[in-house]
Amino acid sequence: IALKSHPEQKTIVPLSDTVAFGGREIVVIGGPCAVESLEQMERVASRLKPTPIQGLRGGVYKPRTSPYTFQGLGLEGLKILADIRRRYGMPVVTEVMSIEQIEAIAAHVDILQVGSRNMQNYDLLKALGQVNKPILLKRGLAATLEEFVYAAEYILSHGNPNVVLCERGIRSFDSYTRNVLDLGAVAALKQITHLPIIVDPSHAVGKRELVAPMAKAAIATGADGLIIECHPEPEKSVSDARQALSLEEMVDLTDSLEPIAAAV
Ligand code: PEP
Ligand code: MN
Repeated sequence: IALKSHPEQKTIVPLSDTVAFGGREIVVIGGPCAVESLEQMERVASRLKPTPIQGLRGGVYKPRTSPYTFQGLGLEGLKILADIRRRYGMPVVTEVMSIEQIEAIAAHVDILQVGSRNMQNYDLLKALGQVNKPILLKRGLAATLEEFVYAAEYILSHGNPNVVLCERGIRSFDSYTRNVLDLGAVAALKQITHLPIIVDPSHAVGKRELVAPMAKAAIATGADGLIIECHPEPEKSVSDARQALSLEEMVDLTDSLEPIAAAV
């Protein structure tokens, strides 16, 4: 089960040979909302590789609100991710939207993301329980903590112990920020579950100028890491342009987290 049986219980989830969630070091993952081209991902990886940022993100199957907008590059995007992963030696995460996509994605990435919209897709969660790779489970758009924890248990109870929780903001009445980052949930989950929990400030706030303060607050709260959207040309992002950091902003933000993490 996902709940702790004693206060010190902790699960460490490996991302690569040298990086793990839930250990002493925070894990920072950066990259675009969507993989758009090999050139785009080259620019991201070459800028982030020599920094403390340990992983890359990039969606290839995109759960878009409108069926008429860009849906992701699919297998072609997965090939780009696999190529970047191999050549830059950086672990990668991408979203899996359906059971049929699991095999191909699991073969090429280090951790499979379940998006907010699929947090309660129980057949998908059960299938991911049988995968030999860690799962990054994002909190549903309006999921209670009980629902979130049970969703994680669908994966655990079907055989996969490596689940990382991700708070990414929840629906509320004010759309000034895209969602409301629930840091109380992060503090609570740290107390009640043994699973690592990271924060996605990008989808929480939806505006690039609000990402850094929330990222810092997340680390101060005790989050085990962050997943943040950034892009070589943020305004040109094909999806979630308004919340994308530039690569320089991404690196600067990561540097600014060190003293906060050290103080937690
Ligand atoms: C994403 O990370 O690209 C994404 C779609 O996030 P969420 O599922 O949290 O909306
Ligand atoms: Mn996005």
